[in-house]
Amino acid sequence: MRDPRYDILFEPVRIGPLTAKNRFWQVPHCSGMGYRYPNAEAAMRGVKAEGGWGVISTQEAEIHPTSDISPANEARLWSAEDIPALARVTEAIQAHGALAAIQLVHNGLHTANRYSRMIPLGPSPAVYDGNDPVQARGMDKADIAAMRRWYVQAARRARDAGFDVIYVYAGHDMSVLQHFLSRRHNHRSDEYGGSFENRLRLFREVIGDVRDAIGDRCALAVRLAVDELLGPDGITCDGEGRDIIAALAEEPDVWDVNLSNWANDSQTSRFADEGFQEPYTAFVKSVTTKPVVGVGRYTSPDSMVRVIRKGILDFIGAARPSIADPFLPKKIEEGRIDDIRECIGCNICTSGDNTCVPMRCTQNPTVGEEWRRGWHPEQIGRLERPEPALIIGGGPAGLEAARALGARGAEVTLAEAGTEWGGRVSREARLPGIAAWGRVRDWRLGQIRNQTNVQTYLQSPLTADDILGYGIPHVALATGARWRTDGVGRSHRLPLPYLSEGRLLTPDDLMDRGAAAIAAPGPVVIFDDDCYYMGSLMAEVAIAAGHEVTFVTPDVMVGSFAQNTLEQGRIQRRLIDLGVRILPTRLLAGRGADWLDLACSYSGKVERLSCSTLITVTGRLPVEGLWLDLQARKGDWADAGIKTVTRIGDALAPGTIAAANFSGHLYARDFGTETDPDSVPFRREDIAMLLAP
Ligand code: ADP
Ligand code: SF4
Repeated sequence: MRDPRYDILFEPVRIGPLTAKNRFWQVPHCSGMGYRYPNAEAAMRGVKAEGGWGVISTQEAEIHPTSDISPANEARLWSAEDIPALARVTEAIQAHGALAAIQLVHNGLHTANRYSRMIPLGPSPAVYDGNDPVQARGMDKADIAAMRRWYVQAARRARDAGFDVIYVYAGHDMSVLQHFLSRRHNHRSDEYGGSFENRLRLFREVIGDVRDAIGDRCALAVRLAVDELLGPDGITCDGEGRDIIAALAEEPDVWDVNLSNWANDSQTSRFADEGFQEPYTAFVKSVTTKPVVGVGRYTSPDSMVRVIRKGILDFIGAARPSIADPFLPKKIEEGRIDDIRECIGCNICTSGDNTCVPMRCTQNPTVGEEWRRGWHPEQIGRLERPEPALIIGGGPAGLEAARALGARGAEVTLAEAGTEWGGRVSREARLPGIAAWGRVRDWRLGQIRNQTNVQTYLQSPLTADDILGYGIPHVALATGARWRTDGVGRSHRLPLPYLSEGRLLTPDDLMDRGAAAIAAPGPVVIFDDDCYYMGSLMAEVAIAAGHEVTFVTPDVMVGSFAQNTLEQGRIQRRLIDLGVRILPTRLLAGRGADWLDLACSYSGKVERLSCSTLITVTGRLPVEGLWLDLQARKGDWADAGIKTVTRIGDALAPGTIAAANFSGHLYARDFGTETDPDSVPFRREDIAMLLAP
């Protein structure tokens, strides 16, 4: 039963000629499925429609080959040939009574056109904003006329594909319309440049053109970045961001407002809390009568009600919360608040898109697998005659395996050696700024506690003797991994024996004992060859404890993988602000009690640093003692009644929390079936498309 406090979230809202059935709006978000995997895209959006979202949008849809963002895999509307694939998406969404939206984009100078080899277009001649040696051409009047035509053609194709809501998009510094609006990008002296009204001209014209093209069957949405967080060099919410909305206030049927660029819009929980965009977007409703959509990683229904009641937003926009839990609206509607799988704000999802593959999610292991593996986030097949399973290790892999297998009806025993659940999730969530990651543990524990067929035991370090003694037929080892102490990682492939000449710690020591693990005074050096978040968190812990900290990495920047999670800039800035000295492109070369030698990774030139404590963040090794013990006693399994022993999660191969969670889920899905290691374990869309007539 729905809590009446949340009724307001389920009010229908009129948008132009249409009515959204509720206030849950899945704003455009990249999926990495795009034009190359349209079945995956359709199935993923369809699941969200089933989960109760009132409006569901595609990712950006390129309107022309001069906006070719390859190798990224976004939606495409270059020609009529793109319509059938997108029609599949609209059908999947509308089948559940949701409205289907599409975000039209021309990427302007934000694309190198690597595939089409066409020349990028911008308001003025400009260097492409990636690092390809490519420049955009300044558009002449014929180009502007063509651009307007392309928007019209794409809008008609979108309408023909069945979309209900057509977006005109000027956000993320990724749209030619925003480039025209921007003083930084638009240096023209004709009627499309210079004054505010001139820079607004193309945006205004395209909005009008698209309105005419779609007629009165579709609603028109305009997505605008109201602040670029660039101060006076950019659009600001108390300057031109406000002026643009005021000037076009009643033109669209709905405003969708956010921050630019993408790294500002999709900030992680390490750097921003739920509702972080409100200070920038709260003004919008005071300058338009049209409904307003906004985002801010809202996962709490109370927060959602607050922003509606306070008149900040009319629709709760969501990308990440809808990925982590496609059934978020339905769970609120059914009064199942504790079942909501809250987004942890880690941006593993964006890392999928940024590496040009279908997105994955730390919280939701089924995302991206809806079509190719047939996985559903809320349904998992019951086993007919399930045999019992023993799962050892209560980290993300073990918890997810136990939860999902429990949901399949198996009798599950989950044993954890330690005094708390969550494994690495609990240990990492205590590091500065990432407490929200604990939701990975909390959601799974909450679900397990409602499953009478899952028994859980803390403080239960199991041995091979114990396991053979229990004789439970299926055993999963989710015993995790520990950080290496020998320096072996990406850059050093052989152990470095000299590391033990001085005080040596790993992230495990700091997670177990906090900064107290750095018992000695004197300079701390962090050697980060992991290149993601852990090295910088070690620096934060050490600096907070008052140590002088030097961050050394063979890479050219701090935490380079975090570019894919859109955090790299903020991570590096934080270390700089905290006074951490950063030494990139350095390898380890030697060690004494109070010194450390580093070698330039290009020239080999050696320099000596004073170093009292070295924290290495390199590779991890699976905790595999139990596995090896059980392998040594394989001959005893049958007598003990053991049929299978399987390693999952970090115990199989250390990776992300998302990978551990996925591994646990996969174990449960595959339970009771023989998998064929020689065959591809999912349907292949790439081949199916190639063979299509
Ligand atoms: P993953 O990410 O794969 O889930 P974690 O490192 O987060 O792995 O969790 C592994 C968990 O397994 C830890 O909480 C650890 O205490 C537990 N564990 C390791 N060995 C045993 C064992 N022999 N018996 C019970 N629990 C164990
Ligand atoms: Fe949220 Fe992380 Fe999932 Fe993205 S990957 S939706 S940020 S939990």
